[in-house]
Amino acid sequence: MVTQMEPKEAEIPPLSTLLTSPRWWSSDTVAVVTGANKGIGFAMVKRLAQMGLTVVLTARDNDRGIKATESLRSEGLHVQFSKLDVSDAASIEGFVSWFTENFGALDVLVNNAAVSFNDLYDNSVDHADTVIRTNFYGPKLLTEALLPFFRRCPSSNSRILNISSRLGSFNKVKNQSIRQMLQSDDLTVDQIEAIAGQFLESAGDGTWKAGGWPEVWTDYAVSKVALNAYTKVLAKRLRGKGISVNCFCPGFTQTSMTRGKGSKTAEEAAEVAAWLALLPPEGLPTGNFFTCSKPVISSKL
Ligand code: NDP
Repeated sequence: MVTQMEPKEAEIPPLSTLLTSPRWWSSDTVAVVTGANKGIGFAMVKRLAQMGLTVVLTARDNDRGIKATESLRSEGLHVQFSKLDVSDAASIEGFVSWFTENFGALDVLVNNAAVSFNDLYDNSVDHADTVIRTNFYGPKLLTEALLPFFRRCPSSNSRILNISSRLGSFNKVKNQSIRQMLQSDDLTVDQIEAIAGQFLESAGDGTWKAGGWPEVWTDYAVSKVALNAYTKVLAKRLRGKGISVNCFCPGFTQTSMTRGKGSKTAEEAAEVAAWLALLPPEGLPTGNFFTCSKPVISSKL
């Protein structure tokens, strides 16, 4: 079935609801954050640890990851480190082995790691392969590998939060047949991978500009389109099975990715992201796209 209309937007309860509602989590609650040695990921590890969870800070570079972890431990926060390069299947496998030995059960996964090689107003696709591999296949492979470890507890509900971008909203895709496929309730992972493959082929042979792809930061936007689409398919697959899957656009944030430009700090973006990861289990949304406006807006994917 094809859904013609754009998703309807809904408001999310204010942050004060989280602070006043009973905590469903404890220090036994385990969260994993990818790409967390700096930027929004680092701020999110800090916020979740401050809220009292046990947090695994992961980073692709050992030294940067250890340094970030030690800085949080020196503040008395309960943070562990493990190396994880989400663009490398062997690194994902190594991380999952480490996680199995050290934890074995997972409550919150934040797929945050991502790359973009463009300056703000550039639009080169020279690194399209790396961008798609890191920003789409990375979260997908990691999520699939960690699925068996999620705690399926009705009183808490496990959560997957994919840090995405409005640049990857389906309405940025001008190619009608691809857009209809993305908006269909019958969308499959194979179709998403075919769309990513089609983009990479056109980036490779130089025909991408006429392909109806998103016009800003095209390779990054396509990676986030694919991540949003994967969120939608996975949420449907896991509905009623104790795991909610959502994505979140932090908005224009001052990090390395934006060369320090942006309308908010990484801490401000992480505050909202942490709140979304900790929403009360009752009526927990799934398959939603949250944006960091005030109030926070949620659209069904
Ligand atoms: P940063 O560039 O500051 O941080 C990105 C993080 O991802 C770094 O820790 C980086 O590690 C890590 N990373 C990159 N590649 C890999 C990899 N292969 N494996 C593991 N980690 C990796 O960016 P932000 O904090 O801004 O980005 C965080 C998320 O927010 C991203 O998903 C981004 O797309 C999203 N976002 C950001 C916006 C913004 O305005 N900043 C707007 C919308 C979305 P290293 O230090 O080693 O490079």
